[in-house]
Amino acid sequence: MNDCIFCKIIKGELPSKTIYEDELIKVIMNINPSTNGHLLVLPKEHYVDIFDVDEKIINHSFKVIRDTLYPILKDKLGCEGVTLSENNLLGQEVHHFHIHVTPRYQNDLVDFNYNKELLEDLDTVLEKLQ
Ligand code: 5GP
Ligand code: ZN
Repeated sequence: MNDCIFCKIIKGELPSKTIYEDELIKVIMNINPSTNGHLLVLPKEHYVDIFDVDEKIINHSFKVIRDTLYPILKDKLGCEGVTLSENNLLGQEVHHFHIHVTPRYQNDLVDFNYNKELLEDLDTVLEKLQ
């Protein structure tokens, strides 16, 4: 994709702080991190989001997160777990599939702000889902 910033980063046309790379993915530091060590796992091929991406990228990315990235984040930064997330459609800023790897620390301020007033009760939602 010509105008995709993550494709440009992968091609080396834009700078990035890369901490891991293999034939399928590149892992960079988020320019605007939620916590220290907030990483983005990017496939080298352009896919839009989770609904578009090849299954092999999903499998490979999660394996690298579990077996390689988390041990590094834990050993070097002292995090105690990672929150994994993927935005798509509403809320996605960069339309090149990526997984956020957000290291978690005691007393960090990572939070989803649920607006309780907008929520329906659990049984109403369950009925819709069935
Ligand atoms: P999302 O698309 O999942 O909503 O968020 C995209 C993420 O990419 C954001 O957290 C933002 O900070 C990050 N980001 C946007 N532009 C750049 C960039 O040029 N370099 C890096 N390293 N991260 C970026
Ligand atoms: Zn792209």
